[in-house]
Amino acid sequence: MFLRVDKLQVELPAPTAQDPNAAAALQELLGGKYGEMSTLNNYLFQSFNFRSKDKLKPFYSLVAAITAEELGHVELVSNGVAMLNNGPDDDSDEEDGGDLSDAPYEDMKDIRLAQAFLSNGGGSTPVNSNGVSWNNDFVTTTGNVIVDLLHNFHLECGARLHKLRVYSTLSDPTGREVCGYLLVRGSVHAHAYALALKKLTGVDIDKMLPTPNINLDQIPECAKYLAEGSHRRLYTFSPDDFSDIKGIWEGDKALPGDPKGPLEVVEGMPEGGKIHQLTGIPSAFTPDYAPEEMFEIATKLYKKSR
Ligand code: MN
Ligand code: MN
Repeated sequence: MFLRVDKLQVELPAPTAQDPNAAAALQELLGGKYGEMSTLNNYLFQSFNFRSKDKLKPFYSLVAAITAEELGHVELVSNGVAMLNNGPDDDSDEEDGGDLSDAPYEDMKDIRLAQAFLSNGGGSTPVNSNGVSWNNDFVTTTGNVIVDLLHNFHLECGARLHKLRVYSTLSDPTGREVCGYLLVRGSVHAHAYALALKKLTGVDIDKMLPTPNINLDQIPECAKYLAEGSHRRLYTFSPDDFSDIKGIWEGDKALPGDPKGPLEVVEGMPEGGKIHQLTGIPSAFTPDYAPEEMFEIATKLYKKSR
């Protein structure tokens, strides 16, 4: 089962400007081959299909716990995409539908993923940076624990490659923060899968890290997460279950180049941060052309529920 919490894993800084092409680049981290939809769905179905769950518990728990974190990453990237598509929140946008006959969105015909505006109202969907749909062919679930873990290690290294490349295309704070946070968390996941493979086979796969060989302290947006020790923390994302991942995520070995310290399992989830409002754009009919009555109905219902 899953529990939903109305927060993002980290708070994202507001965009400084509307930048739909930056949002399109960020889409690669959502619906690309190594994007969050891929990590989520690989671990999700591997955890469903996992055999001998009790006998192989720490390995099952590792895949299951990281699944929940990946769902939150899908949420984080999706929020980042929508924020960049929309620009800074502005309540005054919600007051008037404006003049449609004056081509208010003429610029939108020139953006790379026009569908994001034309069909999705400036939101995100599981497509890559060129609008190609994410699909099930990106999911590997073999039933063989070593092959699945090795696939997951490859997936996390591929995701790091994606994130470094997308990061190097972005100048706005929102997209860079998404990349910075996910680079640190992806590094934890690659490290965790490497340690799991080491426990099972004796092979020092962790010595291949980081791949690509860029230390995170070279990325300013990673610095605060490294300073607070996020690179040493693995979450269970559950109130009672999966704490046996301590059998895998243990020892005193942060990756070379990262601040040193013990690896820690945290029971539960990160504190998290606020979700961006995404104010309406009545002239694009979101939530609708004249939203006042809808806001009034919603306010009445909310008050009644308290
Ligand atoms: Mn992820
Ligand atoms: Mn990951």
